[in-house]
Amino acid sequence: MNIREELEARLNVPLEEAGNVAIYEALLALTQEKAAALPTITGKKKLYYVSAEFLLGKLLSNNLINLGLFDAVRAALKDAGKDLTEIEELEPEPSLGNGGLGRLAACYLDSAATLDLPADGVGLLYHFGLFRQSFENLKQSEYPDEWLEEQAWLRKTDISFPVAFPEATVEAVLYELDVPGYGAGKNKLRLFDLKTVDETLVNEGIDFDKKAIDKNLTLFLYPDDSDRDGRLLRVYQQYFMVSAAAQLILRELEAGGHALTDLPEYAVIQINDTHPSMIIPELIRLMTARGVAFDDAVAAVEKTCAYTNHTILAEALEKWPLDYLEEAVPGLVPVIQKLDRRVRERCDDEEVAIIDEDELVHMARMDIHYGFSVNGVAALHTEILQTSELKVFAELYPGKFTNKTNGVTFRRWLMHCNPELSGFITSLIGEGWKKDADQLEKLLAYRDDPAVLAKLLEIKQEKKLQLANTLVLWDVEVDPDSIFDVQIKRLHEYKRQQMNALYIIWKYLEIKAGRLPRRPITLIFGAKAAPAYIIAKDIIHLILCLSQIVNNDPEVSPWMKVVMVENYNVTWAEQLIPACDISEQISLASKEASGTGNMKLMLNGAVTLGTLDGANVEISQLVGEENIALFGEKSAKVMELYAEESYAPKDYYPEDPEIERLLDFIISPQMMRLGDPENLGRLYRDMTRKDWFMALLDVKDYIAAKERLLAEYEDRTAWAKRMLVNIAKAGFFSSDRAVAQYNEDIWHLK
Ligand SMILES: *Cc1c(COP(=O)(O)O)cnc(C)c1O
Repeated sequence: MNIREELEARLNVPLEEAGNVAIYEALLALTQEKAAALPTITGKKKLYYVSAEFLLGKLLSNNLINLGLFDAVRAALKDAGKDLTEIEELEPEPSLGNGGLGRLAACYLDSAATLDLPADGVGLLYHFGLFRQSFENLKQSEYPDEWLEEQAWLRKTDISFPVAFPEATVEAVLYELDVPGYGAGKNKLRLFDLKTVDETLVNEGIDFDKKAIDKNLTLFLYPDDSDRDGRLLRVYQQYFMVSAAAQLILRELEAGGHALTDLPEYAVIQINDTHPSMIIPELIRLMTARGVAFDDAVAAVEKTCAYTNHTILAEALEKWPLDYLEEAVPGLVPVIQKLDRRVRERCDDEEVAIIDEDELVHMARMDIHYGFSVNGVAALHTEILQTSELKVFAELYPGKFTNKTNGVTFRRWLMHCNPELSGFITSLIGEGWKKDADQLEKLLAYRDDPAVLAKLLEIKQEKKLQLANTLVLWDVEVDPDSIFDVQIKRLHEYKRQQMNALYIIWKYLEIKAGRLPRRPITLIFGAKAAPAYIIAKDIIHLILCLSQIVNNDPEVSPWMKVVMVENYNVTWAEQLIPACDISEQISLASKEASGTGNMKLMLNGAVTLGTLDGANVEISQLVGEENIALFGEKSAKVMELYAEESYAPKDYYPEDPEIERLLDFIISPQMMRLGDPENLGRLYRDMTRKDWFMALLDVKDYIAAKERLLAEYEDRTAWAKRMLVNIAKAGFFSSDRAVAQYNEDIWHLK
């Protein structure tokens, strides 16, 4: 049977006569069946990638691509006058992640299956995800993201595990979904849900009873941790995840007939950031409860667990007060205390203690001592870990530290989201790049080919038009002939959306003064702020206020538009990334561990405007400085400023009149009338008195670099060449490369 016949057999009507909902359901069932029929990838040893987040994105198209059915399905639908893109809109995006770290986990699952490596993801099944963002009164509001549907990818298994808390023992029920590799077998993503979860616990917005842990553990990802109950809930939630994960891992070990102490021969556990760190003491606890001697359990677990560090921001490195652990997970406390004592016997440096003098339990330190591998996620990040942030640990365990620069799956971030570019690349260099991304370098042979360069510009234009047509549905009108400048990522002060906002103010004042740009510019943002992160929400308010002022000013709006898309997620990213001309990667040097948005954007032919931070450093080395626009202080200097405490915004405000007028605009009468004076005033005070991430240090250099880049856009041939070099050099950032390196150096699966 061909695809049309297979679909029609399910629909019981000719494809032409079927509605989109029916076709979607038929496609879902068909895809699930084909995925289920794939052989499960097996091997002696299996990876368990444990992560609080898996930011999957919609699955239909991606699974069709990996199953090799995408083109046939699209063609069959088109034949019948149906559009796969429209049908795909019916699929809700799974809400199981937050940002880069969760998206990385999803890319790695795709690549591990593609590389035929036995690797399952393990995490939690959140009913309402992080939250759904909406804008009301120019501010972010949060609502439960209701994405779970009856008809969907998840399969409930009959496997469940008890997880014991002092107040009650709850049940963790295992759900699974298939992860087909590209032209390969399949692995699984395994998600635990709380059997007694109660969605009716949610009140107004995303508020709920944080103490009802027998009902709330899988309602939301990262519940608000601004109060004690919220922080405690995170401990409960993390323990729920790792206890179930540990029981699953041991169950599979025993099912194979192996001794518990042989764990490292059959399993490797990648701890994705510190949220799953308690899996270390939990495994030890479970093993000793089953009769293994403590020392033997430690020895086995040490050889099984590997830790990925994703941040050097001190506030993001988890430390739990010991009394929280005593309250929520008392069974782990004696294990952690023993682990701490062993460390203290080896080394009397307080800086490496797991439980510090203030009785705070340092999760990352436990991972480093009791894991066999520690990796950073970009060359600069790993270097900073080794020479500064985790220096004592790197000296203690020099062999444990390695770098694994992040990567993204080209199946989703090129083949799926940009079939036009993907098809064009294939027409030039063949299909080989789809399984061997380095082959994209073959494109360099076309860097002086006018027809190729013209076609690249034409495809970009087409993607910009498609995005413009989507934005119209949201009542936003943008000019597809303008330059699309895009900053899409979680809202965080270190990522410096506020510095981009200062550029908007600067440009607005330029246009008002009659200094018009050569070509209109569209500044596009997408960002969610953590619900309790006040300054981040103030920055969203600032950008939304500016968008009103700019877009509603008849003198300005023909030249500049400011757009912030609501509820930025993977689905949005897939539309924004192919349409981007300028990729904003403007974090304060030393603060962005890697970034992966930067990789997706370069792969789709955007030119990066960025600081030498995270993987931007590697991007610039690969494409050469003429194909990236760099600005701003370097990481060494920034770290020195922090160490000496010598940065002060008062050196720039009100000292520098150019900077002064930008900041004063935030609290100008025009802004205060439109926005909320409390929010704008607070942000103004923060930016002029604290500016912890040094926006004022770099803002003038940033404005100058951006203006140069906008001018350079006018040489269309030179720009197209830069696009081509960026695409050609993106091969290094394939998650296939990253996962192969993890396997080679850490996992040793095959
Ligand atoms: C890639 C991605 C991110 C990470 O973006 P960064 O710019 O690396 O922070 C966040 N959210 C979504 C939806 C993504 O696709």
